[in-house]
Amino acid sequence: MDAPATRTTCPYCGVGCGVLVARNADGTVTVRGDTEHPANFGRLCSKGSALGETVGFEDRLLAPQINGRRANWNEALDLVAATFSRTIAEHGPDSVAFYVSGQLLNEDYYVANKLMKGFIGSANIDTNSRLCMASSVAGHRRAFGADTVPGTYEDLELGDLVVLVGSNLAWCHPVLYQRIAAAKQKRPQMRIVLIDPRRTMTADIADIHLAVRPDGDVALFTGLLAWLADHDALDRAFIAAHTNGFDDAVAVAKALSLDEIADQTGVPADELRAFYTLFAHTEKAVTVYSQGVNQSSAGTDKVNAIINCHLATGRIGKPGTGPFSVTGQPNAMGGREVGGLANMLAAHMEIENPEHRDRVQRFWGAPRIASQAGLKAVEMFRAVAGGRVKAIWIMGTNPVVSMPEVGLVEAALKTCPFVVVSDVVSETDTLRLAHIKLPAAAWGEKDGTVTNSERRVSRQRPFLPSPGEARPDWEIVCDVAQRMGFGKAFSYASAAEIFAEHAALSAFENEGTRDFDIGAYAGLDIAQFEKLAPFQWPSPSGQARQRSRFFADGQFFTADSKARFVATLPKPETRTSDAYPLVLNTGRVRDHWHTMTRTGRSPRLSQHLAEPFAEIHPRDARRLGICDADIACLSIGAGSVLVRAFITPTQARGSVFVPMHWNGQFASAARINCVVPSTTDAVSGQPAFKHVPVQLSRF
Ligand code: SF4
Repeated sequence: MDAPATRTTCPYCGVGCGVLVARNADGTVTVRGDTEHPANFGRLCSKGSALGETVGFEDRLLAPQINGRRANWNEALDLVAATFSRTIAEHGPDSVAFYVSGQLLNEDYYVANKLMKGFIGSANIDTNSRLCMASSVAGHRRAFGADTVPGTYEDLELGDLVVLVGSNLAWCHPVLYQRIAAAKQKRPQMRIVLIDPRRTMTADIADIHLAVRPDGDVALFTGLLAWLADHDALDRAFIAAHTNGFDDAVAVAKALSLDEIADQTGVPADELRAFYTLFAHTEKAVTVYSQGVNQSSAGTDKVNAIINCHLATGRIGKPGTGPFSVTGQPNAMGGREVGGLANMLAAHMEIENPEHRDRVQRFWGAPRIASQAGLKAVEMFRAVAGGRVKAIWIMGTNPVVSMPEVGLVEAALKTCPFVVVSDVVSETDTLRLAHIKLPAAAWGEKDGTVTNSERRVSRQRPFLPSPGEARPDWEIVCDVAQRMGFGKAFSYASAAEIFAEHAALSAFENEGTRDFDIGAYAGLDIAQFEKLAPFQWPSPSGQARQRSRFFADGQFFTADSKARFVATLPKPETRTSDAYPLVLNTGRVRDHWHTMTRTGRSPRLSQHLAEPFAEIHPRDARRLGICDADIACLSIGAGSVLVRAFITPTQARGSVFVPMHWNGQFASAARINCVVPSTTDAVSGQPAFKHVPVQLSRF
């Protein structure tokens, strides 16, 4: 007889859809959407629907390995703990680092962060979520005083105007796209504006597509702020009561004329006027943004330019309004909550704040606490390359494909004295460089929680036994911590105990402080873990869980409770040249996820787009002598990749789009991040994957 279905969540994107998984008598599993989950109400996209095809045990890492030979867990863990301890003793806490992943569950993230920041005493832990939404985190902190997504998915359905910026929602967050499309069908008067250099599938539901020049977003939204001020479309009462910095931001914005904005954005002035007028006159306006905003050398300014327009109109904290960042990774949001970023502490506390550091250290009973931000992702691999970091532990991610300037990352790991990689699969470009390989439990085998883009915490529940000797990440981290002499603080018997500790930390000594609302899980404890229904934080103790939006009361997390405008002006863009005349923009396709370690196993998913490709505008292709289906060579300096030419008028002239998924296993010549330099946003440290001048030729 088939077993009853297990209620869990999809492990792919930040929408965080609920799924029901049934194990069949023949050993296969059937996955369907959970109609009771508030993220998706039963919907699934192609990736979520194909989850059952990706849970087989072939290609799994089944046992620990030391320098390529099979080892037992004790040997491997002893060696990891001894080498990290010796390195710290000889070279100090900052000579070691953890590079973790938005695929980890909150409980995995929490213990890794606790070990590094509270017991090793360094903040050298960063996550691949740095590549995903760090600019949103930085923008939120500048404007709101804390990293807080104000709204909910429901706002995307309630808005009369939905502005989608730098987001191919139809492919990258398909269930959110479906929800907006269904809302528009019910209320045809709803308007949708797509702001994106490419005419993606998302344009199908857009009333207006503004084909903004890559990185033209700051100019576009700075121009909108000036327009709102010039056309009496401000909420002056909200600005006066609840914000600071408006006059400076508007003065800077007004320095640009509409014609200059048209010139900088590549959007004709009459199209800008039409969009600005629509925004000015639509009270219920929500602006959704994703990697086209975040993955930029001006990512944080883009986020603040968008938030400025919502603060100026008071369109925040109310149904159908607000700036809304959607995260790519399934648990990028959870990593932000439990301190997975090098510049944050657990429970959203701040590493720069001595009171927060003291509170976290006392709660943990930690011998020390990191006193300053650690190395962010790009800095971390540079430090490995430069020999400052001598031991690194990479958990659940494949930076030799996903990081920018992968040549440097690869070279850094080759020369690093000690590289530990824990992963679920046996072969990745990163695992090849590991001295120690640790087999981790995969989706379907792990127990814990994840948090989606609307701050909704959901359970992931196991429905399969782990193959071989694979173990949950939190257990592996705790075993190493115990061997490093920190046994008492890492003696958890279950993920539930870790969840309860994080909940207690979020409530610890913060009642009545400005951190209270960030007491995300304060009302929760271990007894609720097993049956925990999806909930949105904050869930403060003693209060009904009813407040799903932040800032409805105009109270922000700054010292004076006021939001901050940030004056933004477009920076000079990275210029193309005769040598590198096209702008490369990288991104995702509909049916693959990250470096394809899971979706690459599904023939059905691989059918959609079977090989790496470059989208090229017909006029660029003609000028370069490239025909459809030719092999094209993209190059920058020493790096080059080979991809299939796909000639399409949906690609803007002067630019080329290449997906980021293909890796050494599937197409070694097509690792696109070979040609993406590690330029980062100065505030957030997020790499700029969307604007790289390149050369393109027929191969
Ligand atoms: Fe999974 Fe995202 Fe698709 Fe939902 S939208 S099923 S979370 S990949």
